[in-house]
Amino acid sequence: DAPAILRRQSLRESAARTYARALPIVPVRARGLTIEGADGRRYLDCLSGAGALALGHNHPVVLEAIRAVLDSGAPLQVLDLATPVKDAFTDELFATLPPELAAHARVQFCGPAGTDAVEAALKLVRTATGRDGLLAFSGAYHGMTAGALAASGGAPAVSVTRLPFPYDYRCPFGVGGERGADLAARWTERLLDDPKGGTAAPAGMILEPVQGEGGVIPAPDGWLRRTREITAARGIPLIADEVQTGVGRTGSFWAVGHSGVVPDVMVLSKAIGGSLPLAVVVYREELDTWRPGAHAGTFRGNQLAMAAGAATLAYVRENGLAQRAAVVGERMLTRLRALAAQCPHIGDVRGRGLMIGLELVDPARPDPGPECPEATTGTTPTTGTFAGVEGRADGRAARRADGGTDTGATARRAAPMLAAAVQRECLHRGLIVELGGRHSAVIRLLPPLTITDEQAEAVLDRLADALDAAIR
Ligand code: PMP
Repeated sequence: DAPAILRRQSLRESAARTYARALPIVPVRARGLTIEGADGRRYLDCLSGAGALALGHNHPVVLEAIRAVLDSGAPLQVLDLATPVKDAFTDELFATLPPELAAHARVQFCGPAGTDAVEAALKLVRTATGRDGLLAFSGAYHGMTAGALAASGGAPAVSVTRLPFPYDYRCPFGVGGERGADLAARWTERLLDDPKGGTAAPAGMILEPVQGEGGVIPAPDGWLRRTREITAARGIPLIADEVQTGVGRTGSFWAVGHSGVVPDVMVLSKAIGGSLPLAVVVYREELDTWRPGAHAGTFRGNQLAMAAGAATLAYVRENGLAQRAAVVGERMLTRLRALAAQCPHIGDVRGRGLMIGLELVDPARPDPGPECPEATTGTTPTTGTFAGVEGRADGRAARRADGGTDTGATARRAAPMLAAAVQRECLHRGLIVELGGRHSAVIRLLPPLTITDEQAEAVLDRLADALDAAIR
């Protein structure tokens, strides 16, 4: 029974347990947006396996693809041998890639997780360029293995230089909008060109087109294009981590499609496996300087995941689900913005497609100051302003007399306790949402792309009720 299972798991499982703490449910059945618990309760699932379920739970085309492999008697474990299943998956994958990349691309199948593909990408650009350092962004999340963790802001296993990400609501430069994005781009330029900037030519730059775990922060298209120009002009491979943003989630098949930016490397996982573990790196063939065996892994050949993934990619493409995500997402954002206008506890509403975030704040307390861009090289912080980058390029906004900042926005202090309370109230109302952001104060919605209009309304009804209850 559910309480006994929950009790036993909490006693036996590692203290690193995450979702299970906030969501004490025991799923036994699921279909589409809906999960059913062992106690018979049903939930609308906007966590979607941390964004891994483009088609929701147990979509018939996915189940059918998995069954077809099982029924065919094909081997399930094949290392990196050629198979018809892999051939079909690769075909489908290449059909979705930006054409300029697909025309000259290679794919490396990686271990099961997104973080494995991030590691492979970092290793690839280091091998290809013969250089070592890496550029990554403040607030990024790339995974939990050492290199990916370093890129996410953890202990540096590779030398990582952290750059400011254009986060409008809590802008590192004290101004939002185009001006803030311009300053962020100029920070990158100066860092690369100023000999005193503290970074040698790096092996690559990694970014998320929409930061996910960092709090659903879409990178402005103009900033992305400029970042592409900056890296291209200096021969720095650009790695787009589309682990979470991929497969239609943001309203474009790949999120880089919004800006038209063509990265040199794409890191893909989550939805590409159709709910089973699969991760790949796709890259321009010139970067393929690896020797045979330079990158390996026993579980590179997950046939069930490739079949489920191929079916998912095909279904999203053939049914225009990226466009559908854009439409439904915009409608949800519109309603959430209207809600925010009535509710001072919602500091910011943002998102792209069906990747939506609601930053909860304490309306009575001003933002203590935007985050520092932490321009660091390895473990040595490089502070100070670069000549030509005006404003407060040291990342500290000027303080106003009321203790707030001159971000121009009316940023308020993040409210993680309120966010946790909203998450609990959502669960009581049969809605599963995820938290994220720098301060875990962002309610994140990642519903499947197959969500109907009625379901989207039901999600927002429950969320609005939960907010009401948590604030009261
Ligand atoms: N990159 C991004 C952008 C992610 O969102 C995640 C997972 N949330 C990862 C990498 C790591 O993927 P995994 O958890 O499968 O290792």
